[in-house]
Amino acid sequence: MTDHPRITVLPGDGIGPEVTEAAVEVLSAVGTFDFDERPIGACAVSETGAPLPEATLNSCLEADATLLGAVGTGVPPADPHAPRPEQAVLELRTSLSLYANLRPVRTFPALHSTSPLRPERIEGTDLTVVRELTGGLYFGQRERTSQQAFDTCVYTRQEIERISRVAFELASGKGSRARVTSVDKANVLDTSRLWREVVQDIADREYPEVELEHLLVDTAAMRLVTDPRQFDIVLTENMFGDILSDETAVIAGSLGSLPSASLPAPPNPLVGVRGGLFEPVHGSAPDISGTGSASPIGSILSAALMLRHGLGLSTVANVVEIAVRDVLDKGFRTPDLGGTTTTKEFTRALLSEL
Ligand code: ATP
Ligand code: MG
Repeated sequence: MTDHPRITVLPGDGIGPEVTEAAVEVLSAVGTFDFDERPIGACAVSETGAPLPEATLNSCLEADATLLGAVGTGVPPADPHAPRPEQAVLELRTSLSLYANLRPVRTFPALHSTSPLRPERIEGTDLTVVRELTGGLYFGQRERTSQQAFDTCVYTRQEIERISRVAFELASGKGSRARVTSVDKANVLDTSRLWREVVQDIADREYPEVELEHLLVDTAAMRLVTDPRQFDIVLTENMFGDILSDETAVIAGSLGSLPSASLPAPPNPLVGVRGGLFEPVHGSAPDISGTGSASPIGSILSAALMLRHGLGLSTVANVVEIAVRDVLDKGFRTPDLGGTTTTKEFTRALLSEL
């Protein structure tokens, strides 16, 4: 037993292993960690019969942080009763009590031309969507008959308080530009009215130095693509967060470039919290799996988020993020960004930058 941070590595399916290998190489270049590699998803089903084997879950529960590739094969199972690979991620989120999902979107100057939005509109975008992950419509009571169906949306004060603190902690760590935009539908929904009241309350009592604004979700959706630079920290509930974070993904130009972090329990969830899950936003991309051309950027930036939020190594995280920018500036591009660089070539270039 050593006292190096323990990282469970779950490569998963499709391009998962290819991009995860790159991220592990980067982590190994900037620190000393004990890696424990385990199966998850479709590969775990073929090996053990379960998408999230007990040994895999136990390893994640004991680790300081978990790095995930992607799960799923992109084809519906021949047997509809067979275990679904995607179940593994939902089970993992629940078992690790991950309630805060962070999706930073930063535009790299070198990638402005691949964004569908005009460069002058996105230049300098640096925002993070903070999405509540364990409440709301996804977890409410539901019922369905052939004639009628309902889903209920429930939020408790305590659930709103703890996710608000994550957003405010992030904003107060960012310095003078710190602003939280809380997104809701308070003109229609009672859960949103409670949301707005509680977020305002936490701001007034605990973070008076942070600027807070409230936006309706329809307005937020529009402004995110027309002027993303006005946003800093976007705080929102589960379903709005699901939709808005995919919308913001467009700004970055490629799904392959985006990282995410899912974090468990307070008190200070942003510094060295044990048990977080870090994964690229993209899926298993079966269409390019095995070609060696996947962008490892999302996975490598997820490793950087792990260093910052999971292991309390912010300075090292900055080094990795700057190296990604520099490699892009030198012209290395995987095919999703219009280039011909392979996964391995990109990683090699990054390692020599480090
Ligand atoms: P899932 O259902 O698992 O979330 P998805 O339907 O969102 O999957 P992805 O697997 O993420 O789809 O792929 C969407 C598209 O983006 C595909 O064309 C894929 O090739 C491309 N893509 C995803 N990740 C990358 C990457 N890292 N590098 C290059 N292209 C990628
Ligand atoms: Mg998807």
